[in-house]
Amino acid sequence: MSDCIFCKLANHEIPTNIVFEDDLVAAFEDANPQAPVHVLVVPKAHYENIIDDVPAETLGAMANAVKEVARIKGLDEGFRVITNKGEAAGQTVMHLHWHVLGGKTLGEGLV
Ligand code: AMP
Ligand code: ZN
Repeated sequence: MSDCIFCKLANHEIPTNIVFEDDLVAAFEDANPQAPVHVLVVPKAHYENIIDDVPAETLGAMANAVKEVARIKGLDEGFRVITNKGEAAGQTVMHLHWHVLGGKTLGEGLV
């Protein structure tokens, strides 16, 4: 997707603060953090959302990236992973991403 900001960030076409990456995924700092740690885990290939026929290998790489982000950021006390699918859920960037939030005590509710 030539026009997609997360494609460009995940593939080094636009510089950003990369926390972790491998062949399939990149994790970088959210530009508008909602917690002391707010990292986005993003596949390097373009998928619109979590149900856009994402290969199991890519989903596994994303889960491994969450683990690496938690280790690198020292989120020993806990963290939250969120993905929004669709505008009604609050998705604003139409490239699959998982929010990894932590570094403080998070609210008890999910919404
Ligand atoms: P969502 O609302 O789930 O689609 O989340 C989109 C997230 O992307 C928001 O938390 C934004 O702060 C973040 N974001 C948007 N543009 C950028 C950017 N250029 N670099 C890093 N994060 C971004
Ligand atoms: Zn994209």
